[in-house]
Amino acid sequence: MSRGINTRCLHIEADEGKTEHFGSLSYPIYQTATYAHPGVGKSTGYDYSRLQNPTRAQLEKVVADLEGGIDAFALSTGMAAITLLFEIFRPGDHIISDADLYGGSIRLFDNVSKKNGIEFTFLDCSRNDPEKEIRPNTKAIYIETPTNPMMHVSDIRKTAEIAKKHGLLLIVDNTFLSPYFQNPLLLGADVVIHSGTKFLGGHNDTLAGFIVTNRPEISEKLRFLIKTTGAGLAPFDSWLLIRGIKTLGLRMERTSQNAALLAGWLKEQKIVKTVYYPGLSDHPGHEIMKSQARGFGSMITFTVDTQEHALRILEEVRMIKYAESLGGVETLITYPTTQTHADVPEEVRLKNGITPCTLRLSVGIEDGEDLVEELKSVFARCT
Ligand SMILES: *Cc1c(COP(=O)(O)O)cnc(C)c1O
Repeated sequence: MSRGINTRCLHIEADEGKTEHFGSLSYPIYQTATYAHPGVGKSTGYDYSRLQNPTRAQLEKVVADLEGGIDAFALSTGMAAITLLFEIFRPGDHIISDADLYGGSIRLFDNVSKKNGIEFTFLDCSRNDPEKEIRPNTKAIYIETPTNPMMHVSDIRKTAEIAKKHGLLLIVDNTFLSPYFQNPLLLGADVVIHSGTKFLGGHNDTLAGFIVTNRPEISEKLRFLIKTTGAGLAPFDSWLLIRGIKTLGLRMERTSQNAALLAGWLKEQKIVKTVYYPGLSDHPGHEIMKSQARGFGSMITFTVDTQEHALRILEEVRMIKYAESLGGVETLITYPTTQTHADVPEEVRLKNGITPCTLRLSVGIEDGEDLVEELKSVFARCT
């Protein structure tokens, strides 16, 4: 971990060979399902691509290194990663989870994990003490920080202390900041989740997911589970992720600069009621975020005065795309009520603060002034 993170996005071996793979700078795509054995009882180290594939293994090494983990697992999507991770729990286990999460995670917990006998307590972990909810069968605390979409910030160090004290796992979905801005494992978490579809891939062109851990016994369980359940990332998609990660630092810097510009601008607009961006000094999580992250990221949630205006903005944007997902080079705007969080029950949505006036921006790498210009003309058509 001595080299800088930008270097580590490109070079992971301290004593990298000069001409491995014929000197190819781009890691080869091992597009193979299976591997010939040199002899009976002998293996090249690779037997079948559901278990391991060199391109996927290379990507897993990169991601483990960036997060400061001992092992990483590349899965076909972020949801596949969370689903696989939950196979380590048993019926009757209890999980304390952030209430405001990516909608797909809430859907998974409510409809699949509960059916499998896992119990949940949902809590705003940025405001309430998870320690009070611990039961004899509690096994883990599951958080996002900042949360999707309301941008609540939890104190990772403090939550990790509670987890350690009670022998629980702390699982952090680090998708919103990427390892470039935040490393939960280094702050005491046990497992990190990523939707690799977002900032790690970075180009809105590939789905992927990751689990990273610094716990040998969890790594061992997950190696068995990925082999057994089979949602490992395909070789070509692994290569796309390796390629995307090469520019992670440049993209994170650029998109967060643009986000800071837009958040400040949005605050001044008449039709905008609230801007949720942890980089704003009046955001309740601003100071905690400064103490645990190296940047504020490029996600902005905001509310406008009426639902009519919210819908109008979605209809009127052109360069900014009205689309789900986030973390890519293109700026996207989404409507949590009917998109990312449509399957979250309305009363839960409203309790979490997601109203029909709430919009979420994933800020891309365009010229910031062009983004302001586009929103300016869209807002002008709303009044
Ligand atoms: C998108 C997302 C996921 C799910 O990832 P997929 O790659 O879409 O399956 C999980 N958590 C967060 C915070 C996300 O934004």
